[in-house]
Amino acid sequence: MADPQLLSSVRTLVGRQYGRVYAWDAVNAPMIRQWCEIMGVDNPLYTDAAYAADGPHGGLVAPPAMLQVWTMEGLHANNYPPGSTDQNPYEVLKLIEEYGYASVVAVNSELSFTRPVYLGERLYYTTRLESVGDEKTTGLGTGFFVTLVMSHFVEKPEGDEPVGELLFRVFKFRPASARTAAQAPIENEPAKAKRPLPGVSDDTRFFWEGCAEGKLLIQRCSACATLRHPPAPVCTHCHSFEWDSVQASGRGSLYSFVVMHYPEVAPFDHPNPIGLIELEEGVRLIAGLTGVQRDGLRIGQQLQVEFQTFDEQLALPLFRPVGE
Ligand code: ZN
Repeated sequence: MADPQLLSSVRTLVGRQYGRVYAWDAVNAPMIRQWCEIMGVDNPLYTDAAYAADGPHGGLVAPPAMLQVWTMEGLHANNYPPGSTDQNPYEVLKLIEEYGYASVVAVNSELSFTRPVYLGERLYYTTRLESVGDEKTTGLGTGFFVTLVMSHFVEKPEGDEPVGELLFRVFKFRPASARTAAQAPIENEPAKAKRPLPGVSDDTRFFWEGCAEGKLLIQRCSACATLRHPPAPVCTHCHSFEWDSVQASGRGSLYSFVVMHYPEVAPFDHPNPIGLIELEEGVRLIAGLTGVQRDGLRIGQQLQVEFQTFDEQLALPLFRPVGE
């Protein structure tokens, strides 16, 4: 049962209008071209001026789905053009959160369009807190569906014109698992999660058996001696199905990496650094990094394999930095 104080505070916010957020740039051809390229859109009405001149809009228009693009903040959070509101249209989420509903998940988004947007037009939007539903319990937990509507306009001297709307709905909730954990007595704590086991096939069995023996084995084509990883049934170089394996030295360098911060999936440590390692034999493989600090990771740094056994059954190669 939701706190009555929360419900009454939420009710006073529903229907509230928040001020304008302006677009940094007028609708322009370079952004349209790049967006179309990235999204795989090849409609010439958006990019070919000569074609568009004879089209239904009499000139180039922006793809409707770009509506939100024009008014985005850019690379840095909350970086909006001068004149934009400093009101926070998400204040209701903060309010709900204060009552213990800490998590949020985007549920759905709907775009609707009033008219095309033309090159050179400058957009802004205003936000309305459309609704906050009654407290509901879903598979994720218990909380509230919050719906915001951003109405987009083009500025015109003779009066601004609406061009489209973006509806955005989130579920602000208290996770089911967190609640259970808080209520459960300590002795009923769930068993510690184990590492998922790899799927072992006829192509990959040698690799995992090698790990169990503390060897890093790399598949080698018997016909042309090309090394390959991850293991596969056929040589991509000469198409031979014949292969054996060689033991790698275990030395390599960091070709690339990611550091997983979220989600914090058990049983992994977080943050969880994962490397793409280029072995000195020339193939690359993905493996966990150990003995590293986030700020100490550097592309090209020298690494050495070591094997660690997890859950008393799974031996995995991990890579640790070695002195230069
Ligand atoms: Zn081959």
